[in-house]
Amino acid sequence: MKFAYSFLALTLLLSLLPPAHAGERPNFVVIFCDDLGYGDLSTFGHPTIKTPHLDAMAATGQKWTNFYAAACVCTPSRAGLLTGRLPVRNGMCSDTRRVLFPDSANGLPATEITISSALHGAGYRTAAIGKWHLGHLPAFLPTAHCFESYYGIPYSNDMSRTSKEDQLELAEQEKWSVYNVPLLRDTEVIEQPVDQRTITKRYTEETVKKIHEFKEEPFFLYLAHSLPHIPLFRGPEFKEVSTGGIYGDVIEEIDWSVGQVQKALEEAGVAENTLVVFTSDNGPWLRFKTHGGTAGMLRDGKGSTWEGGMREPTVISWPGRIKPGIIHGMGATLDLLPTFASLAGVELPGDRTYDGYDLSGVILGTAETSPREEMFYYHGEQLYAVRKGLFKAHFKTKTSYVGQKEAVVPERPLLYHLGEDPGEQWDIGEKHPEVLEEITALAAQHEAGVERVPSLLPAIIGE
Ligand code: MG
Repeated sequence: MKFAYSFLALTLLLSLLPPAHAGERPNFVVIFCDDLGYGDLSTFGHPTIKTPHLDAMAATGQKWTNFYAAACVCTPSRAGLLTGRLPVRNGMCSDTRRVLFPDSANGLPATEITISSALHGAGYRTAAIGKWHLGHLPAFLPTAHCFESYYGIPYSNDMSRTSKEDQLELAEQEKWSVYNVPLLRDTEVIEQPVDQRTITKRYTEETVKKIHEFKEEPFFLYLAHSLPHIPLFRGPEFKEVSTGGIYGDVIEEIDWSVGQVQKALEEAGVAENTLVVFTSDNGPWLRFKTHGGTAGMLRDGKGSTWEGGMREPTVISWPGRIKPGIIHGMGATLDLLPTFASLAGVELPGDRTYDGYDLSGVILGTAETSPREEMFYYHGEQLYAVRKGLFKAHFKTKTSYVGQKEAVVPERPLLYHLGEDPGEQWDIGEKHPEVLEEITALAAQHEAGVERVPSLLPAIIGE
């Protein structure tokens, strides 16, 4: 009898407590820049661009110094982030048309599992804000991939130009109206051409609105800025504020935006239950001189598989939960899907291969080292380089868009030690044939295991 009363009392007590999982499922915010260089934030060493919000986020959270985009150009990089899979597995890369364009007939296939579909299926609220670049037709837009809403420019902000002037000269003129890019609300065009001087501010306001709308439930927000991809535009409040010129102005407005997102999370009372990742899709577009960023001491930029093309300045915050510090272990945008799934307690379908690792142990401080020990660098549909530990071998090289038309295939793969030589200046393949042999075998094993599908990027509407 006594036991029965105790049991009843315990049952009553338990029924009054919130469910065990309440508050345990974190929110996720991904802030994804376009063409931001490894050296473009002050916390990553830029001497004239000021990024106080990101600096503070890095100081109280984690700064990842070896974090990679999934590819060196926009479309495949974004496909890799959202699916946790290399773009060769889902057709979102190409050796001919390297990204999607306004006349492209395809986009990310509906059969792909994305961060949004995995989390939305588990009860998360979801919204995509900003650049999409995974198909601008309704069948491929965010709303077709379990994002409840979309607000943004569906492809790059330099597309649909109505002027035939040289792209560099045009970019320097700051004429937003010659880029006939649309702003979409879900699947409808609400403005065209969009006034890009207001775009960072409007993306930010939409994100803040969604944080307040979703605060009672777990949520995933994907804020993909259209900038600092050229042409560069910033709001009047950020005109000529930076010593770093117009590029600096743009980055400082993005930093302001990061501060606004953090403020909204705090005001909504969810900051301590929200993991925020800040990173970029590929390195700086060097062809555009002072309108492009810098990869710091890393070699080359956007479009190449040298480190400057794919290593990104990455900051992760999660107040009260993250183990603060500088993380030198490897990570990649490919890892976000498995990491978020793990932290949310979501099981991913086992019917496909994922290329990401669960980084939650490193984020929470329960793991000493990152589970990612290698990185595969694709240029279009081809594997150009492989990193294993601190060594990186290049099987082919191609610089970013200026200078070199064809890939160079060296007589033997080039080898660099990214610890001693992060700028990839000194080939040490002669001295370490055993390392080259090991990485070559790893590359062959990887390629043999990748189920490739035909590229979907070259298809054009109506053809
Ligand atoms: Mg990009």
